Amino acid sequence: MSKFDPIASFANLRHEFGEHGGVNMSVEASTTFTVIDPTTMPEIFQGHLGPEVGGCYLYGRHFNPTVYVLGRQIAAYEGAEAGYCTASGLSAIAATLMQLCDTGDHVVASRTVYGGTFAMLHDYLPVKTAIATTFVDVSDLAAVERAFTPRTRLLFCETVSNPTLRVADIPGLAAIAHRHGACLVVDNTFAPLIVAPLQHGADVVVHSLTKFMNGASDHIAGAVCGTTEFIMKLMDLHTGSLMLLGPTMDPQVAFDISLRLPHLGLRMAEHSRRAGALAARLAELGLPVVYPGLPSHPDHALLLRLANPDFGHGGVLTLDLGTRERAFEFMNRLQNEHRFGLMAVSLGFSETLMSCSAASTSSEMPDDDLEKAGISPGLVRLSIGYTGTLEQRWLQLRAVLQDMGLISRGG
Ligand SMILES: *Cc1c(COP(=O)(O)O)cnc(C)c1O
Repeated sequence: MSKFDPIASFANLRHEFGEHGGVNMSVEASTTFTVIDPTTMPEIFQGHLGPEVGGCYLYGRHFNPTVYVLGRQIAAYEGAEAGYCTASGLSAIAATLMQLCDTGDHVVASRTVYGGTFAMLHDYLPVKTAIATTFVDVSDLAAVERAFTPRTRLLFCETVSNPTLRVADIPGLAAIAHRHGACLVVDNTFAPLIVAPLQHGADVVVHSLTKFMNGASDHIAGAVCGTTEFIMKLMDLHTGSLMLLGPTMDPQVAFDISLRLPHLGLRMAEHSRRAGALAARLAELGLPVVYPGLPSHPDHALLLRLANPDFGHGGVLTLDLGTRERAFEFMNRLQNEHRFGLMAVSLGFSETLMSCSAASTSSEMPDDDLEKAGISPGLVRLSIGYTGTLEQRWLQLRAVLQDMGLISRGG
């Protein structure tokens, strides 16, 4: 089997021309679609006709042609049979969980997942749907195996966990899930192109397109990739979570994101190059930096096994400042004295984004869960951007480290 290449896979897609031959596709702004022949309508409702069969569309909460193209583009990058897009990453996750689980079913999930995902699994779903979750350290495969029950329908993890940056052993986790007749669902938001989880045994990939995929911090969006059968289930008129809960992506948003996908590879490579260089210099100075591209990272060898070759090891690194006060001072100086980056949650922007995880994106987690997950109060997550020059950014970062007495003036 030849190795999967996401860039080649994307380029193999049929080019979508605009209605008048434009080099960009048209935005299909209609919420409803007409038919020439009245007998076509029931055929679409019964699922005999659709986007792939006859090029038929029904209604904007079902498939929309522009959103459908974006779904195929995301699927191409993941090497998935099919994909569809949603109004947010969290709605893609919610729809996937609710499609795979019924009332009383069970989920095994990584302890270190995005705060919103954690809240959904820990607080929302048990009350609303009686879907229970056991949280485990997914680096401990024996603990993962022990957490399964006869009602476990899925195992959920992030390729690179937020904000601890542990890499999931996707082949190992897939083997456990499949042994128990369950699915492995992977949130690949942190590692688009870098890792293609479906190629390593995952069954479903979910994304927050809000982050690296779109890359401009101007749209909230999500996607689900998997088999055509699974995507059609999500869209089923009677039992589909996407169709019935309705987290519909606006076609104009789909168009905007599709314009930025062709340079995703260039952006990921540069995010990674910058993050890798800064992480190496911080590590050289003996600072508590975590970055999966560093040979000292516990999952470095695993990432090398899973990663596609051309996109580096990710755009996110963390630095532990010890206390929340030190973390706040660090970010404040970086933003307001040196214009190194911006204090903001989210990631994958052209500018560096900095946040203190325990006080922001992971604040949904109670203190003891934060501690169990290894999220220290002074942990600063940096999503490294690509504006400015690398040397300029290093000098800014070094100046703050010197001013805070974390490194000597000679450092
Ligand atoms: C941001 C994020 C989400 C949620 O996505 P939204 O687009 O904000 O709904 C889910 N998972 C991860 C890893 C994220 O970073």
